Amino acid sequence: MIPGVFFDGRSSHAIHVDVWRDGDSLKWRGPSREYAVSLVVVEPSARVIGVPFVLHLPDGAHIQVDHDLLPADWFADSHRLERVVDWLERRWPAALIGIFVVVTTLGALFEFGLPWGADRLAMNMPHALEVSMGRQSLAVLEGRALLPTRLSLDRRQHLQAIFQHFADRLTGMPPVQIRFYASPLLGANAFALPDGSVVFTDALVRALPDDQAFIAVTAHELGHQAHHHMLRLVLRSSGVVIVGSMLMGDVASIGGLASGIPIFLLDSHYLRAFEEDADSFAFNALASQGIDPAAFVRAIQALERVRPEVGRGDGLRYLSSHPLTAERIARANAASRAFQLAHAGH
Ligand SMILES: [Zn+2]
Repeated sequence: MIPGVFFDGRSSHAIHVDVWRDGDSLKWRGPSREYAVSLVVVEPSARVIGVPFVLHLPDGAHIQVDHDLLPADWFADSHRLERVVDWLERRWPAALIGIFVVVTTLGALFEFGLPWGADRLAMNMPHALEVSMGRQSLAVLEGRALLPTRLSLDRRQHLQAIFQHFADRLTGMPPVQIRFYASPLLGANAFALPDGSVVFTDALVRALPDDQAFIAVTAHELGHQAHHHMLRLVLRSSGVVIVGSMLMGDVASIGGLASGIPIFLLDSHYLRAFEEDADSFAFNALASQGIDPAAFVRAIQALERVRPEVGRGDGLRYLSSHPLTAERIARANAASRAFQLAHAGH
């Protein structure tokens, strides 16, 4: 039997009682009468240090008791969480581990959950928003990283024509267009913006040995385009901002993410998985139009030769100085052999 204070739930009148357990019942006795309820309808509150423990009864009544006096077997099966919290409170090392688990869980959420969410968002982004992001990026880059092209009009018109011929025959592509710029900053480079712009620098055009190598790089960039890679990367790297915006109800600011694209171009590179996807897209696209994927090998090798100059842009460039180059060339050669086998009978 332990002392307690009973409130009937209707008045604030406190009745001092003795409380005990009798089989499956909780009983308490005040100055004038005795009460009993089944233990199963009693809800013990979670314990907060310094606050009396509360046994909630039906009809809003409750009994306050001193937690330390409460026999452990009265509510042995209830409030597991409370017992865990209580256990943690008494054991700081465990509490520290708890904090570590929470932090690593949040870390994992940002590491894996955000890319997943960013990809879903990118796939469902209204095309008009992609177009506006691409235009804004170009507007920021033009006059800074991207200067007017110095390629001859003839050369541009020729490349424009073979690009359009190639792109028009790919199924499932959004509208795309090619743009040429001089860019001492980006060097020999190409990248695909969310609005469908494929940007080639003059240095890249000059480095490529032939039209099919040009088309091979084009196909790779169209692969990035088809998979929304740029948008996905920008959204991923802006994941924290996006989550914050959504929590603040400020979804409109997502449009402002376009400002992340120029920074991304100068400061980052595509993920290896994205490069492989873009390469695979390119091999298939080339083969589907009767172009031997060996053209891709010539393009990479040409990039290797102009490689010494600095600059970080698309992974095509980044990887060209990377040990992975050999792997990409091997994949392109395998695609080329498959292409030649398929066309041997013709
Ligand atoms: Zn790439």
